[in-house]
Amino acid sequence: MRHDRTDDTPDAILIGSGHNSLVCALYLLRAGWSVRVLERAQTPGGAVKTQELTEPGFRHDWAAMNLSNFRNSGFYADFGEALEARGAEFARAEKCFASVYDDGTWFGVGTDTEANLARIRALSERDADTWRALTEGFEARAGLIGGLMSSPMSWTALSGLGFKALRECGWGGSLDLLRFTLSSPRDWLGRSFESEKIRAALAPWGMHIDYAPDIASGAIFPYLEAFGDQAGGMFLGRGGSDTIIRAMVAEIEAQGGSVECGTEVTRILHEGGRARVIETADGRRTRRSSPMSPPARWHG
Ligand SMILES: Cc1cc2nc3c(=O)[nH]c(=O)nc-3n(C[C@H](O)[C@H](O)[C@H](O)COP(=O)(O)OP(=O)(O)OC[C@H]3O[C@@H](n4cnc5c(N)ncnc54)[C@H](O)[C@@H]3O)c2cc1C
Repeated sequence: MRHDRTDDTPDAILIGSGHNSLVCALYLLRAGWSVRVLERAQTPGGAVKTQELTEPGFRHDWAAMNLSNFRNSGFYADFGEALEARGAEFARAEKCFASVYDDGTWFGVGTDTEANLARIRALSERDADTWRALTEGFEARAGLIGGLMSSPMSWTALSGLGFKALRECGWGGSLDLLRFTLSSPRDWLGRSFESEKIRAALAPWGMHIDYAPDIASGAIFPYLEAFGDQAGGMFLGRGGSDTIIRAMVAEIEAQGGSVECGTEVTRILHEGGRARVIETADGRRTRRSSPMSPPARWHG
């Protein structure tokens, strides 16, 4: 049941309309809170934006374009149907990514494992064997790594995962997995593949999310991207990645929330140790409603 409050005192004010804020807004609305999202840019979506940057009629994703994590998320399981009803659409790419090299050759990953292996074998027999072994272990490993990434940061949840790993992989396998999750992109790629071309094609997926080549745990992302794409393809937004943003904003508005663009938050004022008032660049102040207990129910 929605709280009967005027829109001037929303239960929650979210600063910024990146997709994480919009996700949060939708869960809060579902739990009965009233919500206002304030965005300083003229369009919502943060790094997920599609714009005509070159020629009229040609829309480009100017930052994020790979929506696989979003499409495969728990959030999408909860809200996908509602978003699709509001126009969210995806295209699944089967030829997912590739790198070209100075000598005119290329290496890329798609959903056809045998074709990937043939390309790898042309570069290194040993790397083809490694790729096959990694492919065979992917489903079990990805389940554990995915569990780690989506787990609450509590000892209970993490020790539950530790026991699951021990049950499924034994001590040796669990220690291998631990070593892998702590590896940097350079460390893991250097250990696993002898071909510089394969290393070079996979490493950017770590850097892509701000893990420089020697940052611990950065190996997870090249691994998940390469073998996840091979297993399921890559989801792009049909017509542009902003398909998800337009659908989320439409759903927020349909549920009584609002997303206000061109509004920069300049100050957050506290009362009794709680953030209560938001000041925006145009001098307006918005008060959040009285502190409430967290929503009792987050899922649908
Ligand atoms: C070039 C690039 C490519 C990427 N490609 C991918 C990809 O293909 N796939 C993928 O999964 N991830 C990708 N990412 C990462 C992904 O885009 C980000 O992790 C994601 O956008 C973060 O979302 P967010 O909601 O946390 O914040 P953001 O998207 O950063 O949004 C924050 C919003 O808050 C607003 N804001 C900030 N301060 C204020 C203020 N004071 N008042 C009002 N508004 C404010 C900003 O204007 C912005 O709109 C990419 C990132 C970059 C930079």
